[in-house]
Amino acid sequence: MSEAREAIIIGAGHNGLVAAGLLARKEIRPLVLEARDHIGGMLGDQSFRVSPMPFSLRPEFLRALDIDLPAVPMATLVASPSGKTIRVSGNRVEGCDTADAEAYEQLARRLARQAEALSGMLLRPPPSLDGNSFRELLSLARTGLKLRGLGKTGLRDLLRIALSNVHDLIDDEIGDGPLGALLAMDATLGGAMGPRSPGTVLPLLYRMTANAGQRMMPAGGPTALVKALASKVETAGGEVRTNAPVKRILVEDDRVAGVCLESGEIIRAPLVLSTAAPGTTLLEMLGPEYLDAEFVRRCRKMASAGMVARLDFELSAAPALADGTQLTASDRLVIAENAAAVEAAFNAAKYRGLPERPVMEACYDAGRGLLSVSAQFIPCNPEGGWTKVLRLKLEKAVKGEIARIIPDFSKLVLSTVLMTPQDIETAYRVPGGHWHHGEFRIDQLLMLRPFDGASNYRMPVEGLYLCGAGAHPGGDISGAPGFNGARAALAGRRR
Ligand SMILES: Cc1cc2nc3c(=O)[nH]c(=O)nc-3n(C[C@H](O)[C@H](O)[C@H](O)COP(=O)(O)OP(=O)(O)OC[C@H]3O[C@@H](n4cnc5c(N)ncnc54)[C@H](O)[C@@H]3O)c2cc1C
Repeated sequence: MSEAREAIIIGAGHNGLVAAGLLARKEIRPLVLEARDHIGGMLGDQSFRVSPMPFSLRPEFLRALDIDLPAVPMATLVASPSGKTIRVSGNRVEGCDTADAEAYEQLARRLARQAEALSGMLLRPPPSLDGNSFRELLSLARTGLKLRGLGKTGLRDLLRIALSNVHDLIDDEIGDGPLGALLAMDATLGGAMGPRSPGTVLPLLYRMTANAGQRMMPAGGPTALVKALASKVETAGGEVRTNAPVKRILVEDDRVAGVCLESGEIIRAPLVLSTAAPGTTLLEMLGPEYLDAEFVRRCRKMASAGMVARLDFELSAAPALADGTQLTASDRLVIAENAAAVEAAFNAAKYRGLPERPVMEACYDAGRGLLSVSAQFIPCNPEGGWTKVLRLKLEKAVKGEIARIIPDFSKLVLSTVLMTPQDIETAYRVPGGHWHHGEFRIDQLLMLRPFDGASNYRMPVEGLYLCGAGAHPGGDISGAPGFNGARAALAGRRR
């Protein structure tokens, strides 16, 4: 006997839970199937969080789901060459030369205005390359109007920098240094592009769309966020099941008919939304036999080489920076000397080597005594593979860089947990362990995300939708793909 449901969502990461919450509010009671033994996806649980800083959450989605979760502003700390700590909160800088602070603040305000003008594009499906429905034209017109609001000079400036590289922007506007490192990290974190790669200003703008560039942490952190999302699903009649990996998406009469779990259990449903990576969903779970050859070719060609490793250091006491500044739960620490150092780390990784001096961001969870570090530009498939020796080498290099900023660091470390991009790939079933489930670059963005012909969430087999980070607008804990994907599925049902 097989069970029948109204809708199935594959994956209980935050996007799966946002999508499920939205369907449930429209009285379609979804069953969310999660392969792992806990919900939250890369937000994780108390034992390990791949993604410790849910800064980019869109308040619009929380409102649409009727979730009242206040958010707390966070500051980013970066060390200056003299050892003094520079503190950046939103667009305000403290702790450095006034001229440097003013140059940064001016640029940050300008970028925040441009990001705001683009933000509407993230809250709805991307414009289609061949569609010209009234709804699409209206949506394009709205974005056009917002862009016009930048004025002629602002619009010209946006067009000039949007496709350029962040290193040039830094050199031209603020000069390279610790504040340049911060912008270079925000523009490249999670991707396989260095600050000199074209198109790296766009990811920076993307990250500035939520809260005008001010990083906000939901009160109670990731735990409270996951709990609030799951509770909305369940109170509206949905169900979340863990330890339930989906093996196949079933098709009957050219439309989706349900899923088959790895256990062999069959669950029938006319609607399936997947937050697994696009390639995994389409080529492994659905199968190329249901897709045309060109579609399959483009899907196979998707770039998704992950380049971020995660390390958790259990500490015996709260860490302090060289000038005595204590790292608190409302700080993010960026460890990179300048944008050139970020580029140097990328240079090693692009040839499958470990950077001699890894660059990273970190946050401190005082309750658990954990320093959580995301080290950027660590290749998923390094030359020679992930041997024990290489893992130790990475750990040592990361510790060495942290110790430059936190002098007592090696004395504070009680234990270390390392997840290479390959470990993340295996644990979360994400190709390359990629932050965005697929590279966030110009030929995989907007109407080309995840790849040309597959945008708009709706897949070629009726009833199947993508709504994870691989879909428009991309990754980070924003909720946008889950929200947009669920809306596309609801619109599909009305058709
Ligand atoms: C090292 C690292 C650090 C990061 N840090 C941050 C950060 O600090 N802040 C931030 O905003 N973003 C961060 N990110 C990015 C962020 O974690 C992702 O963009 C985000 O989690 C994507 O959400 P999602 O719900 O689409 O997918 P995921 O969070 O990946 O969730 C997908 C879920 O689907 C499940 N699944 C997959 N296949 C199946 C299957 N066959 N059957 C059932 N379930 C399945 C997976 O187990 C997973 O739980 C980080 C990413 C990485 C790799």
